[in-house]
Amino acid sequence: MNTNSTSTITPISEITSVSLFSEEELDFSKEYSLINKDKKCSIKCNHCKNSWSSLNTTHKRAHLSDNVFSKLYKVKLCVNVPSKTSKAAVASLKLLQDKRNSKDSIKSQVDSNLMHITTVESVTQSEFNPKRKGTISEKFNVAAATIADRKVANYIFSSKQSFNSCDSLAFYEMIRAVSEAGPGYTAPKSSIISGKLLDEQYSAIKETNARFIERESQLGHGMTLSSDSCTITKQPLTNYICKYPNRQGISLGYDDATELYQAGGIKDANAVYEGLKTKIEEVGPSNVTAVVLDNAPVMLAALTLLAVLYSHLIVLGII
Ligand SMILES: [Zn+2]
Repeated sequence: MNTNSTSTITPISEITSVSLFSEEELDFSKEYSLINKDKKCSIKCNHCKNSWSSLNTTHKRAHLSDNVFSKLYKVKLCVNVPSKTSKAAVASLKLLQDKRNSKDSIKSQVDSNLMHITTVESVTQSEFNPKRKGTISEKFNVAAATIADRKVANYIFSSKQSFNSCDSLAFYEMIRAVSEAGPGYTAPKSSIISGKLLDEQYSAIKETNARFIERESQLGHGMTLSSDSCTITKQPLTNYICKYPNRQGISLGYDDATELYQAGGIKDANAVYEGLKTKIEEVGPSNVTAVVLDNAPVMLAALTLLAVLYSHLIVLGII
């Protein structure tokens, strides 16, 4: 929703507080007298002595004002009104007119904006009540935020995202970037996300991890390398994870394990060994302190082969 269009509206609270006259002056009652004749009460102008059975405050002013307002309110103009009283009556009627025009203008803008909102989103009227305190733009910001909250929640529900994904830094950064991009922003299509943007992210993470490993290496820290099989979207894979003390583990990559699994479900120790050897060579053997795998016979065999090749390595097969 574009809130800019509402920001130029003068808040109702400011308009209603504008008053150049006291209540007594606006009433103009002192210019009239009440008369009681034949048990009938009427009101009489003190200047021209014309009388009426009743006269509201606007008509009291109109009678004492000028030709324009006396015609507008269809009341006879006073012929003996003092100039000062006439000017005050005219000024107060102009103020009244301005107030009405401003209120009409604001009300029509509020109505049109409410109509726009309620057509795109079902929101209760009480949430947009224009009589509540605060400026109109503030109210629309609150309204837009309420809708945004519901849309975020709906996305989480309908796409089956975990609730705590909303607590992640990535989620926070996404919401912030979208709001800063402005109302014209549209999200990329899934093909862009799974293609170009995924490739960009992969390269960026790979570079960050390489810099991290380089820094740890310069500090003389050695990594513990572990590996296991996993299946992602029905694709059998072998993962390689490196871990430094008191640091989060980082992925060194995946190997396609299709052939490994196809050989009668029995893994080949040599294939496991070759995979690990390739990764150790990539990061540099001196940066690897230990290799930890599970204690399946094929894994233990691969570890033995590694220990022969790299004599400094601590190799462990754990349950
Ligand atoms: Zn009069």
